[in-house]
Amino acid sequence: MEVEKFDAIIVGAGLAGLAAAYTLAQEGLEVLVLERGDYAGAKNVTGGRLYLNPIRDMFPDLWKKAPLERFIAREEVAIVAKERSLTMSYCGEELRQEPYQSYSILRAKFDRWLAKQAERKGAMLVTKSRVDDVIIDNGQVVGVIAGGEELHADVVIACDGVMSLVAEKAGLRKPGNPRDFAVGFKEVIELDPTVIEDRFGLNGNEGAARLYMGEVTKGKFGGGFLYTNKESLSLGIVVGIKDLTEGEQVQAPSLLDDFKQRPEVASLIRGGQTVEYSAHVIPEGGLKALTKLYGNGILVAGDAAGLSMNIGVTVRGMEYAMASGYLAAQAVLKARETGQFNASQLAVYELLLKDSFVMKDFQNFKDAPAALDNPRFFTVYPEMVTTMMSELYAVGAGPKERIYPTLKKHLTIRELWDMLGDLRKVRKI
Ligand SMILES: Cc1cc2nc3c(=O)[nH]c(=O)nc-3n(C[C@H](O)[C@H](O)[C@H](O)COP(=O)(O)OP(=O)(O)OC[C@H]3O[C@@H](n4cnc5c(N)ncnc54)[C@H](O)[C@@H]3O)c2cc1C
Repeated sequence: MEVEKFDAIIVGAGLAGLAAAYTLAQEGLEVLVLERGDYAGAKNVTGGRLYLNPIRDMFPDLWKKAPLERFIAREEVAIVAKERSLTMSYCGEELRQEPYQSYSILRAKFDRWLAKQAERKGAMLVTKSRVDDVIIDNGQVVGVIAGGEELHADVVIACDGVMSLVAEKAGLRKPGNPRDFAVGFKEVIELDPTVIEDRFGLNGNEGAARLYMGEVTKGKFGGGFLYTNKESLSLGIVVGIKDLTEGEQVQAPSLLDDFKQRPEVASLIRGGQTVEYSAHVIPEGGLKALTKLYGNGILVAGDAAGLSMNIGVTVRGMEYAMASGYLAAQAVLKARETGQFNASQLAVYELLLKDSFVMKDFQNFKDAPAALDNPRFFTVYPEMVTTMMSELYAVGAGPKERIYPTLKKHLTIRELWDMLGDLRKVRKI
């Protein structure tokens, strides 16, 4: 029986897989993308913000027509305690200048569109097709098995997301440590665009991004997010898996229900209709938790490699996925010049990543997971800051206390000492 052979097989039609497929097909390679979902994006979850600057030049023809939602013109952070919260809102002229830095996106729309662009370039996408194994011949990955069928290729690119079966079967990924993963729950809530614009103080296609930290995760490592789309809000909670299994027992999905009841959120989503619910694991272990990136006949990109990062003020994975997919494709093109696809030819992928913003970010923020894994950020500080605010704004029946003593009583020697210790750790980020 004749076995079908492609130049490259890409497993997973998420952002990493589609970016690799688009790039390789553009260069005329025969590319097969296998996706287990009903369509590209059907199973993919994100909070909702894509930063374009780092990847703009890798895909110069894509952005004009891409189904982006709103450009983010307002950055907000809410520090949430049990009974109060403090929200800071940043608005800068640079955020309103083209080319815009970041956009909210909806993956079901965006991935489907990106898949079309890859297909237009010549890539073949097969959906409802789950890869169950890799084919290894003489120590070299030479294809995959999907639906009982053997499919061969010069190279396989594993873009099958956070629990990558393909990387595991190829011996590049070990079962992970709960400390290196978080789980996210998200709803897309439809609202009239004018209601969104009025509630968030936005004009036209401007959008807002708001991150919440503290009590929203019951003091556990993680946070909440809210992004405005054209006609909906993306609202969700992310919480560290290790923290979920330790200390006070919390039913993870109920965190999102409680979050929606908070006064800071309830008034923003009022009247909205939940049209989508999803849950997904996120790799957050940073540099030390990355998988091996290449082997004989195989490369690993995106979440499959662990390329997602939470540093508190930003949650990023999508542009790392697209960039690593693009760079994996570049590595394949380089290997083709030699006609060899063994590990020593494909090692150029790691060099390309190291030379790009991807590994430079992972190197720069290698201490972020440890520094942010500090319960005081999610309990003590939110309570302290919001209690100070409450006392600053309070006017009782008697005379008002001076501002300095009002604040100072919350900053005891003990508190200042602990803060100094925390600051020393955060200094590394
Ligand atoms: C709640 C949440 C909030 C986030 N917020 C943000 C954010 O605001 N900004 C940001 O940049 N990043 C964010 N991220 C991270 C970001 O979404 C991911 O890093 C990104 O989606 C990774 O893309 P990917 O292509 O590597 O993987 P995925 O998007 O997961 O794609 C993997 C694909 O592989 C397919 N697949 C899996 N196994 C198989 C198989 N065996 N056979 C065939 N197909 C298979 C899946 O169906 C899927 O289509 C967030 C993630 C979550 C969960």
